[in-house]
Amino acid sequence: MGTGTSQGIPVINSSHPVCLSSDKRDKRLRVSILIEWGEYSYVIDCGPDFRYQMLRANVNQINGIIFTHEHADHVAGLDDIRPFVFQMGAMPIYAHQRVLDDLTKRFPYIFEEKNNYPGVPRVVKNNVGNAPFRLEDMTVIPIEVMHGSLPVLGYRFKDFAYLTDVKTIQPEEKEKLMNLKILVINALRIESHYSHLNLEEALSIIDELKPERTYITHISHKLGFHAEVEETLPENVFLAYDELTLNIN
Ligand SMILES: [Zn+2]
Ligand SMILES: [Zn+2]
Repeated sequence: MGTGTSQGIPVINSSHPVCLSSDKRDKRLRVSILIEWGEYSYVIDCGPDFRYQMLRANVNQINGIIFTHEHADHVAGLDDIRPFVFQMGAMPIYAHQRVLDDLTKRFPYIFEEKNNYPGVPRVVKNNVGNAPFRLEDMTVIPIEVMHGSLPVLGYRFKDFAYLTDVKTIQPEEKEKLMNLKILVINALRIESHYSHLNLEEALSIIDELKPERTYITHISHKLGFHAEVEETLPENVFLAYDELTLNIN
């Protein structure tokens, strides 16, 4: 749905060459993925581009939203779940208790038990801890990673794992990321950053985990042009781009 860092690409009023690029793959909305299996569709994160992402991908139902953490680029679109709520009823949301508490402060009108203004979005809260949980017929394994000093959750679905906003991963969490067919992980830019992996750090984690294939996301314009950066990557490591679809069997 989106592969860009918090400001997206292009950045407003930027004349950086990547922001001016005509390559479609250099246009990145804020990070999110849609995961579909059987008759189910779940979204990970619901940032400020959520509405347009749903329209662009022609999504006509989602069964729930799973959150990685509470930063605005991952949660700011929550009000825009309304069309789904009107059609399907209250939206199940899955997040760590700290993130649910933060969402309650950011969107008090969504979480109020009574005196609701008609037409506000409704949600059903599900607290995700460090233990695997069920989504329909799927077991989802939360992976706790560190985003600077903030713990953030990544998620593993069978042989696929999605991690964003990672800076470091403890050895016991890395154990949960072995034998993957596909890993999605963030890399912000070439230079280092206090709370995000840069490209070199991401590649070193990929080298340790050895997934069959890896796609890089949460990308800043400072990483460079999609086409140029991708040429420098090791075999089986790719930059993700908006509207990329991956099939996992
Ligand atoms: Zn982010
Ligand atoms: Zn973040």
